[in-house]
Amino acid sequence: MLDAASKSFFAVLAGSATLKRLASRYGMRRGNSFARRFIAGETVAEALAAAKSLEQTGLSVTLDLLGESVSSLAEADQAARGYISLIEKMREAQVGKNISIKLTQLGLALDDAVAFDNVRRVLDAASAGDFFVRIDMENSPYTDATLATFESLWRLNYRNVGVVIQSYLRRSEKDLRRMNALGARVRLVKGAYREPATAAFQRKTEVDASYVALMRLLLSEGTYPAIATHDPAMIEATRTFAAQQKIAKTAFEFQMLYGIRRDLQTTLAADGHPMRVYVPFGTEWFPYFMRRLGERPANVAFVVRNVSKDR
Ligand SMILES: Cc1cc2nc3c(=O)[nH]c(=O)nc-3n(C[C@H](O)[C@H](O)[C@H](O)COP(=O)(O)OP(=O)(O)OC[C@H]3O[C@@H](n4cnc5c(N)ncnc54)[C@H](O)[C@@H]3O)c2cc1C
Repeated sequence: MLDAASKSFFAVLAGSATLKRLASRYGMRRGNSFARRFIAGETVAEALAAAKSLEQTGLSVTLDLLGESVSSLAEADQAARGYISLIEKMREAQVGKNISIKLTQLGLALDDAVAFDNVRRVLDAASAGDFFVRIDMENSPYTDATLATFESLWRLNYRNVGVVIQSYLRRSEKDLRRMNALGARVRLVKGAYREPATAAFQRKTEVDASYVALMRLLLSEGTYPAIATHDPAMIEATRTFAAQQKIAKTAFEFQMLYGIRRDLQTTLAADGHPMRVYVPFGTEWFPYFMRRLGERPANVAFVVRNVSKDR
């Protein structure tokens, strides 16, 4: 199937050191370089500027200091420090108090206990500043560990933290019911990684049907749900269900990625829906960028046009 094939192709390319070197050289070089469509910048200052300008148009934000699958505990420690410093700078700049983190960036693939300590350091800094922290969901080898980490944090009474459920995973209904029962804040997404058929639906129609079913469950039983998608059909299904069930527009939020469907972001916000934009930034943007290309191969044409202008 094209969806799965495209994700696989771009996942393989994402492993290429040469491509990464080339992309890193050209992707963010100038104000209009190709990666800037999806990445707010490489520095905190650029991310804060992008966040401020989104907030001025009535959108809210969550900031993501890009990075994943670090290869040493020193890098994981550096990522935790990076987030703690980001929280401080966001507070100073009075930018929305919301960040998104990845557990493999904090060392999950290397040492569970160290990763757990790192998340707690970030959450403690976040609590002190009244920030909310969303733990992004990564690929399926980390689903159990991510949910277990979240549940341990919950048992330790952290409440300024939420999780992500992916509609492409066959297991997700069970996970969502468990998260709803806890009272956890859940972001619902389709899922961005290449996954085997044993773990995940492969066809878009199946992933979409699962998304609609989970959205209904989340809106009915969840706590301030986040419906994260750019798909007009998923958005319409959500609006229709909320209206039928008399769920207020402000009882949940839509979320979209920086640079994708900006038209829809502003239309929904103008119609009274809380809308949060996920603003990724930092030097480690290559894997995130490749996932965005894999979702929509037409984006490659945009990159090629941009590179030929930029060289
Ligand atoms: C706020 C937010 C947070 C996310 N967090 C996670 C996470 O923690 N874990 C995870 O696995 N995934 C995450 N994702 C990614 C998600 O899983 C999907 O891969 C991504 O959102 C594309 O799916 P879609 O729902 O937009 O629907 P699709 O069916 O993929 O796309 C629907 C339409 O949206 C537009 N569109 C979608 N993607 C692109 C693109 N890259 N470029 C241009 N147009 C596009 C196109 O018009 C397309 O026709 C997140 C997404 C959002 C919006």
